[in-house]
Amino acid sequence: MSASSIRLPLWARAVASAGTSPAGQILLGVDYYPDQTPEALWEEDSRMMSEMGFTNVRIAEFAWALMEPSEGKFEFGWLHRAIQILHKHNIGVILGTPSAAPPPWLSAKYPDIFEVNAQGQRLRPGGRRFTCPTNPVYRKLSLAIATQMAKKFGETEGVIGWQIDNELTLGTSLRCYCNFCQAGFQNWLRTRYTTLDNLNQSWGTVFWSQTYTDFSQVPVPLLSGGDPNPGLALDYDRYQSYANVSFTEEQLTMLRQMCPTHFVTTNNVGLLDTIDMCDLYAKLDFAAFDNYPGFFDMLMAQEGKPPSSDGIATTISLGHDLARSVKGGEPFMIMEEQSGKAGQRTFAPQPEAGQVRLWTYQAVAHGAMGVNYFRWDTATFGAEEYWHGILNHDRSKSPAYEEIRQTVKELKALGQEVLYSQYAAQMALVFDYDCSWALKIQPGHYALDYMNQVTSWYGAISASHTGIDVIAPEADLSPYKIVFAPLAYVMSEKQAAKIKSFVQGGGMFVTNFRLGVKTETSQIVRTPLPGLLRDVMGVTVADYVPIYSAKNAVKFAPALAGPDGECGLWADILQPTGAEVLASYTKGSHAGEAAITMNTVGSGKAVYIGADLDGASLARVLRTLSGLAGIKPPLEVPPGIELTVRRAGDKQWTFVLNHTAVSQSVSIPKTFTDLLTGKTRTGKIDVSGYGVEVLQSA
Ligand SMILES: [Zn+2]
Repeated sequence: MSASSIRLPLWARAVASAGTSPAGQILLGVDYYPDQTPEALWEEDSRMMSEMGFTNVRIAEFAWALMEPSEGKFEFGWLHRAIQILHKHNIGVILGTPSAAPPPWLSAKYPDIFEVNAQGQRLRPGGRRFTCPTNPVYRKLSLAIATQMAKKFGETEGVIGWQIDNELTLGTSLRCYCNFCQAGFQNWLRTRYTTLDNLNQSWGTVFWSQTYTDFSQVPVPLLSGGDPNPGLALDYDRYQSYANVSFTEEQLTMLRQMCPTHFVTTNNVGLLDTIDMCDLYAKLDFAAFDNYPGFFDMLMAQEGKPPSSDGIATTISLGHDLARSVKGGEPFMIMEEQSGKAGQRTFAPQPEAGQVRLWTYQAVAHGAMGVNYFRWDTATFGAEEYWHGILNHDRSKSPAYEEIRQTVKELKALGQEVLYSQYAAQMALVFDYDCSWALKIQPGHYALDYMNQVTSWYGAISASHTGIDVIAPEADLSPYKIVFAPLAYVMSEKQAAKIKSFVQGGGMFVTNFRLGVKTETSQIVRTPLPGLLRDVMGVTVADYVPIYSAKNAVKFAPALAGPDGECGLWADILQPTGAEVLASYTKGSHAGEAAITMNTVGSGKAVYIGADLDGASLARVLRTLSGLAGIKPPLEVPPGIELTVRRAGDKQWTFVLNHTAVSQSVSIPKTFTDLLTGKTRTGKIDVSGYGVEVLQSA
């Protein structure tokens, strides 16, 4: 097959046809606000962006009031002039639909559109993201403004694609509990359960006299005199995810009809678990995530955690791996990349010299096909007036200006073959929204949190540098040597069958406490735990123990040799029915009982980690198990260095990313060429603080 016969994805064709970037290059742009900038500066801005090497901007996602100053009266003249100027300078345009911030005339006329939070309070206008995803008037008006934009700009030169809305659900309230959502939820339940008898049985509504005799009686899980039915609460999370996805798809359907040559996406914060990202991006052209590493630094300090460049780096990588995985390994885009101090009331710090470049390469190393920096010029007004961009308040160049210009130049020179190469993962980490939601409803321990567990496990296994896909619970496991599934609390029969077949076929499955406790309808299984996986794990859970003041500890068998580990929040007490014991509890009434087991099934292994291990022990255990599964790091590197490997045919590139401020030595076993400098690299190489090398086998 010749290169010209390969059908490029829609985003690549859109970019190439607009002439802003040759086919095969990646998008390197900036988020721009002509609506907030005097028109006299647009020409200068566009010229400077062009000099920076940018291929595109994203604009207009918060400009509803300017585009529709009163209901049904549309004014796109200013936007058209901005697009023309940008296009003249060869800058492509991604248009944002503005539904995240309705204008005051709309709020005043239709106060029913306001979201109701978990305390039953109605949000007020004045900020952004205060609207209900179900409300039919809000949906109709959101679709109307997006449709008018599509009519106006569907054929406009320079427009290459669309971003629907902005950071869905990311506001002061992550869920809406209004009357419209209640009615929407009831309709969704009619489709899901068909009959009331089925719904009542599935939720167990006989408890506390909650048997429903009409779908219209079903409440939303607002404050009551006791906790809601767990089945109802889990379904409400699913409904809210669905409502946001279907809201997005209304605009998508219209855009597909009216702008068939444009790509369409929406941007999100990857590690926010309010919407099932696989559902959200299923029909969109690619996933687009926003990346603000400085916030993790700020959050760790707030939580009293010691500074950790490794912790921040792996949290970012987890987001990137999720972004790539939600579309089955397809390239993703960073729609907003931190370029300066960022935040509204308090600010993440200015990135150190080299960090913005490093974060850009980190995204590309994990499979990004585009990076847009946030934002071009820094606003002098509004809630985000301290959210620093590439130009300062006085339009002088920010500390990252030259660094970004250099990075764009380097990436353009890197070439299509590297940028389009594949990220191949040997390991998978299951990310299950049902488990995250069900554990928020009933964590069992106040400090037990699904996202924390997933992040800890990702941090531990990423140290092997062999690639991690972040997969849905019922995904195909066959491409992987080892699959990790922490807190697999809700287990479907389909998922259990896939795990069994994966282990029988020679894979290693590693999981931990709270395994298989719940059915998909959030009832507890009627068999001994771990329910559907009892045979494959080769254990029965004799008891499950939340831990507060009476701390426990574990002693490891030789296979996992190391100092005794702490057991922090939880202990599943394991009774082997065929599995080998790899660690035992040492304290209290369960001293001597099994804490970690490994079962052999067919040619594979199933490992149950019953104890909530301290970080160092968890890292050692997961690394040891990875080694048993045949995982070998491509290079031995010190902490703070991240590696990713990209492949195309028999060619291979190793991205070496130094997340620390100091130079680090890495031993390389053969001769490579550093594509960024063209230099030959061999033996022991020094990677500068926040430095990057892209090594190609010589
Ligand atoms: Zn609502």
